[in-house]
Amino acid sequence: MDATEDSLRKALAEKQSAVEAQGNAVRALKAAKVAKAEIEAAIETLNALKLEKSSIERQLQAAVSGNGPDGSVNREAFRQAVVNTLERRLFYIPSFKIYRGVAGLYDYGPPGCAVKSNVLAFWRQHFVLEENMLEVDCPCVTPEVVLKASGHVDKFTDLMVKDEITGTCYRADHLLKDFCNEKLQKDLTITAEKAAELKHVLAVLDDLSAEELGAKIKEYGIVAPDTKNPLSDPYPFNLMFQTSIGPSGLSPGYMRPETAQGIFVNFKDLYYYNGNKLPFAAAQIGQAFRNEISPRQGLLRVREFTLAEIEHFVDPEDKSHPKYCEVADLEFLMFPREEQMSGQSAKRIRLGEAVSKGTVNNETLGYFIGRVYLFLTRLGIDKERLRFRQHLTNEMAHYAADCWDAEIECSYGWIECVGIADRSAYDLRAHTEKSGVPLVAHEKFSEPREVEELVIAPVKKELGLAFKGNQKMVVESLEAMNEKEAMEMKASLETKGEVEFYVCTLEKNVSIKKNMVTISKEKKKEHQRVFTPSVIEPSFGIGRIIYCLFEHSFYMRPSKAGDEQLNVFRFPPVVAPIKCTVFPLVQNQQYEEVAKVISKSLTAAGISHKIDITGTSIGKRYARTDELGVPFAITVDSSSSVTIRERDSKDQIRVNVEEAASVVKSATDGQSTWDDVWSNFPHHSSGSTED
Ligand code: ATP
Repeated sequence: MDATEDSLRKALAEKQSAVEAQGNAVRALKAAKVAKAEIEAAIETLNALKLEKSSIERQLQAAVSGNGPDGSVNREAFRQAVVNTLERRLFYIPSFKIYRGVAGLYDYGPPGCAVKSNVLAFWRQHFVLEENMLEVDCPCVTPEVVLKASGHVDKFTDLMVKDEITGTCYRADHLLKDFCNEKLQKDLTITAEKAAELKHVLAVLDDLSAEELGAKIKEYGIVAPDTKNPLSDPYPFNLMFQTSIGPSGLSPGYMRPETAQGIFVNFKDLYYYNGNKLPFAAAQIGQAFRNEISPRQGLLRVREFTLAEIEHFVDPEDKSHPKYCEVADLEFLMFPREEQMSGQSAKRIRLGEAVSKGTVNNETLGYFIGRVYLFLTRLGIDKERLRFRQHLTNEMAHYAADCWDAEIECSYGWIECVGIADRSAYDLRAHTEKSGVPLVAHEKFSEPREVEELVIAPVKKELGLAFKGNQKMVVESLEAMNEKEAMEMKASLETKGEVEFYVCTLEKNVSIKKNMVTISKEKKKEHQRVFTPSVIEPSFGIGRIIYCLFEHSFYMRPSKAGDEQLNVFRFPPVVAPIKCTVFPLVQNQQYEEVAKVISKSLTAAGISHKIDITGTSIGKRYARTDELGVPFAITVDSSSSVTIRERDSKDQIRVNVEEAASVVKSATDGQSTWDDVWSNFPHHSSGSTED
């Protein structure tokens, strides 16, 4: 537990006892009818103690709620300000709003769409282009057999509890999480020990079984939040939306809960397309559907969302990565399993060290962790509020070799935004088995290799004479022996001429004689190794990343007159929904013509922009675009030159009309920074018209 919080809880408990003791002392003095002055002095001490107690309470409140020590930054008020701005400016809108909406479904409005498409374009550039990934686009409607093979039909569940009276459903782990957080933040009277216990429950929450979750819910007396009714035991609920394909209703299907399966089932063709070479990665961006039990937290938990997934196929015997050295020196917050279990917090660790110590299972997994870090921070995620958390042992799917989540801290706490898992060979094996199509890779040897192969040859004639109708089952059992069993049988047959052999399909022992089977080891030349590749999968929840980016980019600053707070999104140009606005300073035809010329050259340069020719004051127009996160504003205040204003510094430079588009282009596509621009052009001091 946090040291300050721990000592504050102890100090509070001590002060509480001191207040009680002094209260008793005052009552005793009053009962004893001592002199008035003595009672008044005791009351004064009591009041002083009470004041000290409330000061500790305030500090503790600040420590547990993540607010500043003066309680100034309030997470919920901050969130409200962000969400109000986002909804008012149509970044996103609850879907089907005129019909009162549906929980967990949202539309992106114009600036939200633009941000999303910029994030996806940058994702394609940062991953698909950089690694020459093979991008595919598969349907959302998926036949049952595919998701049966992958395990989703049987296991893609969350644990649910029901209000025993009204039947309202809740996610069991979320109720326990809310209970622990609320106790920690609002109940300042709990002891340091109790606080440590609740924090431990939070740390291992994802690791708890249905029984353990149910037991905790009972132990803490957790009831339905809305009605206070008792809750059922937790039970699994499958999150997939079921449908049927075609009119007969005989062909069951599901809306895909992830895009990955579309890639796995195409492995054979993709491997061939890649020249039968490993490693290679395939990528897919598309909608995923999960019938979340009780969606909340806006864009963070929805029922339909965009996933961007990478499946990197690699030889399980060689998980090195040729570009690993490019990320090995990155240092950032990592939260390994051991630190979580022992109640410590995330630490800054050099990625190379985590891989060489084996904390991160292999180089390829490490490489993708590094690339995800670069992707998120380049988008504008604050690196101090980004950490990579390793999955706890039970939390990890049983087939996974290692798994790390990129978690971003926002007003809702730490949120998993990208899952980076080594899924081993699980998916390709499962589809090989179900479809009968081998999803394997080959390693051709430069020189054929000599190998010894076990050959078991049952002599069917002799076995037929001895076992008649059971011959087939005996033959199958003999052929199914592993090397050790076969060599032991061979030795016994040579020494004793006969052995007892258990045939499981007959459920009995039979007697095998020397003339019934020959067992030998033969030398053979092998030209290739055939194996199922392992898969490293980074899976990006685009909506979650975008929401966290909104929070990390949002700030408020006072207007020039100081009478109101203005909202700003400090999006980096790469994500900004519009890169530039063009304003004629005043409404006149000459300036409007210049604005149109500039707009034309911005279009030609591929820069998204918006002209605002309303007569509103320039300051108001700046404020309006700051609220959309537009990084640059070109203001036409003469017919030969214009000003370019940068959103966060509000600094302005002056350029010729002809240069305006190319300056904005170079500052938005990363060729130059605003600092470069600032040092290359004359500054314009507006005596600012901002208000
Ligand atoms: P959670 O535990 O939060 O339900 P998960 O572990 O099931 O998430 P994954 O199956 O690893 O999530 O999904 C990959 C990514 O998809 C997550 O990192 C997250 O960004 C995103 N994601 C998952 N569920 C949702 C959802 N309901 N709404 C929005 N994004 C989601």
